[in-house]
Amino acid sequence: MAVYTIDTPVTYLNGVGKARAEKLSRLGIHTLKDLLYHFPRAYENRGDVHQLGQHNTDKSCAYILTVATEVNSVMVKQGMTISKFRAFDESGSCEVVFFNSAFVKDVFHVGTTFRFYGKASFSKTGRLTLTSPKYEPVIPTVQLPDFVPIYTLTDGITSKILEKLIRTAIEEVLPSIVDPLPEEVRLSNKLPTLSYAIKNIHFPTDARSIGAAGRRLAFDELLTFGLGIAYNANRRTHGAGVRFNKCSLEPLTKLLPYELTGAQKRAINDIYSDTVLKCKNGITPAMARILIGDVGSGKTVCAAAAMYIAFMSQYQSAIMVPTEILANQHYMDLANLLGKLGAKVALLTGSCTVAQKRKIYQQLENGEIDVIVGTHALLSDKIVFKNLGLIVTDEQHRFGVAQRAVLKEREKNSHVLVMSATPIPRTLALALYGDLDISRIDELPQGRIKVDTYVIDESFRGRLNAMIEKQVNLGGKCYIVCPAIEAEDSIDEYVYDQYSGEQMVSFDRSNLKNVIDYTKELKKSLPKLNICAMHGKMKAAEKDAIVSEFATGNLDVLVSTTVIEVGVNVPTATLMIIENAERFGLSQLHQLRGRVGRGNMKSYCVLVSDAKNEKARMRLDVMRSTNDGFEIADKDLLLRGPGEFFSTNRDNNLRQSGGFDFKIASSYSDNDLFNSAFSIAKNIISKDPEMLMPEHSLLRYTISGFIFNHSIIS
Ligand code: ADP
Ligand code: MG
Repeated sequence: MAVYTIDTPVTYLNGVGKARAEKLSRLGIHTLKDLLYHFPRAYENRGDVHQLGQHNTDKSCAYILTVATEVNSVMVKQGMTISKFRAFDESGSCEVVFFNSAFVKDVFHVGTTFRFYGKASFSKTGRLTLTSPKYEPVIPTVQLPDFVPIYTLTDGITSKILEKLIRTAIEEVLPSIVDPLPEEVRLSNKLPTLSYAIKNIHFPTDARSIGAAGRRLAFDELLTFGLGIAYNANRRTHGAGVRFNKCSLEPLTKLLPYELTGAQKRAINDIYSDTVLKCKNGITPAMARILIGDVGSGKTVCAAAAMYIAFMSQYQSAIMVPTEILANQHYMDLANLLGKLGAKVALLTGSCTVAQKRKIYQQLENGEIDVIVGTHALLSDKIVFKNLGLIVTDEQHRFGVAQRAVLKEREKNSHVLVMSATPIPRTLALALYGDLDISRIDELPQGRIKVDTYVIDESFRGRLNAMIEKQVNLGGKCYIVCPAIEAEDSIDEYVYDQYSGEQMVSFDRSNLKNVIDYTKELKKSLPKLNICAMHGKMKAAEKDAIVSEFATGNLDVLVSTTVIEVGVNVPTATLMIIENAERFGLSQLHQLRGRVGRGNMKSYCVLVSDAKNEKARMRLDVMRSTNDGFEIADKDLLLRGPGEFFSTNRDNNLRQSGGFDFKIASSYSDNDLFNSAFSIAKNIISKDPEMLMPEHSLLRYTISGFIFNHSIIS
């Protein structure tokens, strides 16, 4: 008999040949462990049995019915057979209909009882009907499960196949699985064992067991993540950095047309202290600091100050940004400012010619260039710096931790400064950026014109179009954000898997606005305006061309997905319209709103939503009532829970976690669970920095991949 472990490939299982293994791999399933960790995305609550008298035509429900008539199959046209019979419970009766399933006449015999699961509706002739319901025979000796898992599937892998494989994996592996969580931690957090959790996440005995299983598995993810960060943070303190010289920042501040805000001064002081003042046994630890500040809070000048300090100590600086547009913007600003102070600033992007690149490489190597601004092109291994002292990355969530590490890996003694435009709550920042010191820029420069925010529903559509026209006539430009790209993306989706056992509201994606159709319609409604569509399926060059046309050309309206979220500065944009606003997280709405109000014209943000749900209304209300990013982030944490910050949405750039994939914790909203997991992680690392104690050895194994893939400092 074969002995299975969690690492056994799925091909060892009966019924998994090469073809099926190929299909499973599309779901990320290669081993038995992957099967166990392929969690359901939702459950059908079949235990909540309805009477036909209380049928529900809005959603699928379970009914326990007895077959009343023989199955009658009729061929209605070529290739289409309809099989019908009547069934009843004590409150009434209905018709049950199947298409092209003549075999059901051998399943449903008069007098037998089944549990059906499906949506009731009325036929043209007014008869209550269950169409193609799922069904299970009711047999006295067999207890039917209340909750039936719904899995993400792929072509050729049905839920039946998957369920069977998962059952086998559970039977073969669970008995020998060793729980990596120390018993003491498990009990003090009232968590079930790992094998209980895995079994019940797939095949729960009741609603509470789904909740308990989900909590345990979410805790594991958070703990793993927390341990990885704490482990790295702990090792970081050992890295030595170059030491910058004492200098006065006055020459720089004298050039600025404004006074620095208090928050900017504090951030610059933090940087100065890290790179100039800190010294232990003759060694200056390398700075690893993140500036967290709202859009427009003035992070760039803080980075400029850091680069100036480096320059005054004869060290080079590199600043890396996610797009060419941003690189250009930063280059102009920095060349202007630092250029006046004698530094040579250069720009390196993918669009540089080979000759230009060669020249820049040479000047970086011989030290002629002091500050280099660039995109990923900066990661080229052809680059040799004479003496790189500072690495700045802007809008870091676009890079992820792994990429940020590349330069640092090669230039071990450089200081690292990261800038993030996503305000996040303090507690979460500590957990997410445990490997970095944090400076919060929680103050906006004086004299900004506030962006006014409105929440409207579909009935205002006409007036909204008039508003677009008016803003354009006033010389402004308009952004419109839709959640979907094209109609196919707007199909039905289950979104009610919250691992709580409760059935949640299911969103109907068919009402989602999509970029393609929206653009067509708007062009019809506003034929005089120049309207263009943009989305994530386009090539980078195409998108950049559209954005620069929007920024400087005569494009009036840009309809897009959230691809415009990051960093773009179009000071003439005065109107931001967000469709299906209830679909976006607060932080994301805030980011989007930050695209307008960047010039001297009064700007507006309009959130369009027909959502009636109270929580959705509350969230939109937060947007209307405040423009303070940190306050919004705190509210978001309260309303949506920390999971929002770990969101892994397709078109969502807020992947704070830097590539760590939360399967289950992201749909969790339990603050205590988050705090507890992160504080336990810190405790474990402070007690046992290398995780060598026997009770931590399994945990160390669990996080090893994570540590080595994501470490920013080696
Ligand atoms: P972000 O934090 O979003 O990167 P920027 O650094 O791009 O913000 O700054 C946004 C704008 O605010 C820039 O035009 C910058 O010149 C200006 N700015 C920065 N600091 C101040 C200040 N203290 N007072 C007034 N304007 C400022
Ligand atoms: Mg910026």
